[in-house]
Amino acid sequence: MNSAKKSFSTEQSALVWFRRDLRDYDHAALYHALKTSAQVYCCFIFDTDILEALPQQDRRVEFILESVKALKEALVLQGGDLIILHGKPRVEISKLAHALKVNAVFANHDYEPAAITRDEDVTLALQKHDIDFHHFKDQVIFEKDEILNNAGKPYGVFTPYKNAWLKKVNDFYLSAYPVDKYKNNYAKPKTTPLPNLESLGFKPTNLKDLRMPSGMQGGLALFEDFRDRISRYKDARDFPAIKGGSFLSVHLRFGTVSIRHLAREAHRHASIGSQAWLNELIWRDFYFQVLHHHPRVANGDTFKPEFNNIPFPNNEALFKAWCEGKTGYPLVDAAMRQINTTGYMHNRLRMVTASFLVKDLLIDWRLGERYFEEKLIDFDFSANNGGWQWAASTGCDAQPWFRIFNPVTQSERFDPQGKFIRKYIPELNVCDDKEIHAPWLIPLLRQQSLNLEIGKDYPLPIVDHATQRSRALGLYKNSPKVLLPNQKLNDMML
Ligand SMILES: Cc1cc2nc3c(=O)[nH]c(=O)nc-3n(C[C@H](O)[C@H](O)[C@H](O)COP(=O)(O)OP(=O)(O)OC[C@H]3O[C@@H](n4cnc5c(N)ncnc54)[C@H](O)[C@@H]3O)c2cc1C
Repeated sequence: MNSAKKSFSTEQSALVWFRRDLRDYDHAALYHALKTSAQVYCCFIFDTDILEALPQQDRRVEFILESVKALKEALVLQGGDLIILHGKPRVEISKLAHALKVNAVFANHDYEPAAITRDEDVTLALQKHDIDFHHFKDQVIFEKDEILNNAGKPYGVFTPYKNAWLKKVNDFYLSAYPVDKYKNNYAKPKTTPLPNLESLGFKPTNLKDLRMPSGMQGGLALFEDFRDRISRYKDARDFPAIKGGSFLSVHLRFGTVSIRHLAREAHRHASIGSQAWLNELIWRDFYFQVLHHHPRVANGDTFKPEFNNIPFPNNEALFKAWCEGKTGYPLVDAAMRQINTTGYMHNRLRMVTASFLVKDLLIDWRLGERYFEEKLIDFDFSANNGGWQWAASTGCDAQPWFRIFNPVTQSERFDPQGKFIRKYIPELNVCDDKEIHAPWLIPLLRQQSLNLEIGKDYPLPIVDHATQRSRALGLYKNSPKVLLPNQKLNDMML
């Protein structure tokens, strides 16, 4: 599969297959194709293997459709076009490449095991027509074995990985691919129409109401907006009621921004805020390399094998309450309502809700991981799995497993006036800034004066944090080697 090593010095014609890299600038595969081929076709496939597994309403499909439309328009303006297909890439890519009579297909690396298998199948299908498949690093700064420790082994802990990353990074790794230089080499295929949501089998979502700009222009606009705030990032990032983050995760997921552009800007900008932000981009690289070196995590295995078989009680009613944002813990519930209504959740709250699911509700982290996978518009396997395993203390975390977030103190600290809570749980608006974090403690008389009945207008806590905390500690401490049947987890998915 490592055809990047193969010679591709001169191709007569090439096909660039866009996947999670929906932009026409600073794009490794596009650059190499245009540089080496006189006729470059471009294509995108709405992959039925992926789409068929999704619910009928999925914000990601809408985001992709909008971004593909923008990419097509941009390519047309430059004399090219985007061929858009709907089918199975295993079949469609070789069929198209053969029909266009190209010598080679160019794409960027994908690190998820299912995508790697797909690419291996595509390679074989192309070989039958004697067509090469070249692929390149594009979506990360460092991949695979590029950052190893002194013993030549991959890092399993973030801080030394980050230090090695920062030591190695330089202009070479952060430079943009000058795609524009070769834009005369676009080929003009017979145009294919842009599908619409209905023809792909989907229904509209509320994406438009969320004002989440899509496509390359949307990504650049978000970054411009963030650039003015980057120096305040470190102080603002943990407070969900403040616009502290970049909101670029969905753009990084679908490649409507370039990681080199973002990392270069963060690296160049010398503020404490920009360094903290670069740190997050390094986390992203880190989790991609974890997946590369430990693909077993994609089969549901824990990074730390000693915690693979914790017998979580997995109470279905508690799981349902968590999913619906009805646990009685306002910060957790507000966060779950945020993900349910917008497809996004603030980073601090991803940590709080994940910790709460595993260590307060004693539910297997894999169920939460799958719930996020279904809901998040920025769902990315490596970051999601990494985040869940971090929160469950089964993954790459230097902290011991007995770190357990307290949902009330997290709320008091990171949403002190309850601004975020009030946005998603308006029924608690009548509470004052102190009461809102633990409303079950509001005396009955005061509840009556507020016209609020905890237990009716808003749930009582479904578990007691202190009790559950000690149960969680027991589960982790004993961590018996008993296999949890996967079927039980499947049955519990709502
Ligand atoms: C349980 C859990 C699940 C998560 N699932 C995902 C997911 O599916 N997809 C996803 O992109 N991120 C995930 N994250 C990481 C993080 O929460 C989001 O990237 C972030 O909230 C996105 O908001 P932003 O774009 O404003 O981020 P910013 O704060 O602006 O950060 C910039 C970028 O850095 C990357 N990044 C930030 N934090 C992390 C992190 N901890 N790990 C890896 N990359 C990071 C993202 O690409 C992000 O867009 C998860 C974290 C946790 C704890």
